[in-house]
Amino acid sequence: MRKPFVAGNWKMNLNRAEAVALATAVAAIARENAGVEVGIIPPFVYIDAVVGAVNKAPLGVGAQDVYFEKSGAFTGEISTAMLADLHVKYVLVGHSERRHVLGENDALLNKKLHCVLNAGLTAILCVGETLEQRKAEKTFDVCRTQLVEGLKGVDAAKASQLVVAYEPVWAIGTGLNATKEQAQEVHAFIRKELAGILSQAAAEGMRIQYGGSVKASNAAELMSQPDVDGALVGGAALKAEEFAGIVAAAGKSKA
Ligand code: PEP
Repeated sequence: MRKPFVAGNWKMNLNRAEAVALATAVAAIARENAGVEVGIIPPFVYIDAVVGAVNKAPLGVGAQDVYFEKSGAFTGEISTAMLADLHVKYVLVGHSERRHVLGENDALLNKKLHCVLNAGLTAILCVGETLEQRKAEKTFDVCRTQLVEGLKGVDAAKASQLVVAYEPVWAIGTGLNATKEQAQEVHAFIRKELAGILSQAAAEGMRIQYGGSVKASNAAELMSQPDVDGALVGGAALKAEEFAGIVAAAGKSKA
């Protein structure tokens, strides 16, 4: 039985006071929903303050990115050791905005992923197709390549430190979510691929989140699907009430 996992990606939003207030509100949500793993992923500069606000609540804090080198002359970059020092638990690897806006490729993401795993942190590997790729019926090919290349050289023994987020690019921040059937079809495909890349047991134990315009009003339907194990949430994670609805739906869907 996979524990549903809902994480809020705050992207480049909020100021310090707003970040602390939202983390405090989400900490209460996490306390009320013990059946769901809940995470928040603030901008780097607010991680320390957010970790303080979380205090002892069962709420993990993540980072939106990381650099793969341990330390040194890499101006502007952040290492896994720095993140671990701040009690970060998760790191997003290959969010579509990093792939498509900032030009990160699979080879770079594979280095980042290894670095995250070697530091004992959990990697949330994001995969998903653009609208053009979906229309060209390339969804499975794109997801397969991103999984195979992103997970190259990863030992199945590290599966407990891995989460995959299926985030169709056309659904991120657009208000257009995948239907539950579209989500389930790709999630089942991803799980099958994970069995081949890692192992059957690893694939069965790993959480696959859906991401792309998840809201309180569509969360229950999406998470009713057998291979949808939670959500990676952008816009709706910035509103505590909306996020609370998504977390509650995740808890009920797998109860
Ligand atoms: C995301 O940033 O991962 C995301 C899914 O955004 P949104 O929920 O706003 O579509």
